[in-house]
Amino acid sequence: MQGKSSLGWGLIGASTIAKEHMIAAINAQSDSRVVAVMSSDADRAGRFATQNNIPHSYHALDDLLADPNVDVVYISTTNDLHLAQTVAAAQAGKHVLCEKPLALSLADALAMVEACQKAGVVMGTNHHLRNAVTHRMMRKLIADGAIGKVLTARVFHAVYLPTNLQGWRINQPGAGAGVVLDITVHDTDTLRFVLNDDVDSVIAQMAQHGLASGSIEDTVMGVMTMKNGVLAQFHDAFTVKHAKTGFQVLGTEGSLLGEDVMTQQPRGHVLLRRHNLIEEVDLGLPENLYIRAVRHFNDAVRGNGQPAATAEDGVKSLATALAVLEAARTGCKTTVQYR
Ligand code: NDP
Repeated sequence: MQGKSSLGWGLIGASTIAKEHMIAAINAQSDSRVVAVMSSDADRAGRFATQNNIPHSYHALDDLLADPNVDVVYISTTNDLHLAQTVAAAQAGKHVLCEKPLALSLADALAMVEACQKAGVVMGTNHHLRNAVTHRMMRKLIADGAIGKVLTARVFHAVYLPTNLQGWRINQPGAGAGVVLDITVHDTDTLRFVLNDDVDSVIAQMAQHGLASGSIEDTVMGVMTMKNGVLAQFHDAFTVKHAKTGFQVLGTEGSLLGEDVMTQQPRGHVLLRRHNLIEEVDLGLPENLYIRAVRHFNDAVRGNGQPAATAEDGVKSLATALAVLEAARTGCKTTVQYR
């Protein structure tokens, strides 16, 4: 793979995220192109390929995996399908960038990682937020001691689920619905990245505020305790129309506030506060989050470094989200099980 001038990416799933972000991010690289798409519906596959200038469309996974032009697959189907599609892709010798949550159970996610390791292919998780310059800068400032010892953090990630996405996320438990598997996994990955630590245990409460049905939650609030004792509060929702997102870290010598930073767009700003002085941190030129993620993935496939978010990062964010669900259901503090 090192010597191949252009990596061929095959899309497993004719999805919104592929259409709105990932196709452009893959084609923006000098060394990769989207060469094929697979949908479970042949007509949708064909239409999606035409609309997005993709040379080949398939409606059987095996056919896409048999395409010699496909080196890497990007899996963005509903969450229940990620396991089987990742294992099949690995067995076909394809590198895998899989969407979050990796799966619906820890055992399934670990099986995906094992299949990729066994096949010797690269696996990554598409946690886009750690690619944002805002989060990378907060991580650096904390590591450099700019706010002293970190005590607590807060993530505000309550948004309004766009009407075109008000489908399986709010009404199909079997597909991996709910705000925890959708958004809390991203909070977890971003907290792990910015604070450079893993989550030890969680408490949480969930609610339904008008969008989700059945037993599915559309709102969650809770607290994660990091392994080093830092407390991190999180609030995720599909139902909030009138608020911006944010990420705050409070330390002994200062605090950081990332405003409008829990987003797919390369935007937002970071304020550093020490005593009564508030300084807007110079972030330089922002880069598209997905373009950066694909660049790191292509590099990893060529033997240079790791994906921006590895398979193990995806396992850890899923493990934490599962603990949040358990904590909310039982009303008990729950230790995250990583194995
Ligand atoms: P979509 O609902 O757009 O697509 C999921 C699947 O639904 C597709 O694979 C497709 O099946 C089917 N589908 C899509 N459109 C239609 C339609 N018009 N009629 C019938 N079926 C349709 O999902 P998202 O793009 O929102 O999410 C996909 C995955 O990506 C999830 O795992 C999600 O968690 C993740 N995600 C990640 C984001 C990130 O920033 N990292 C952001 C958004 C989502 P088929 O392929 O068989 O045609």
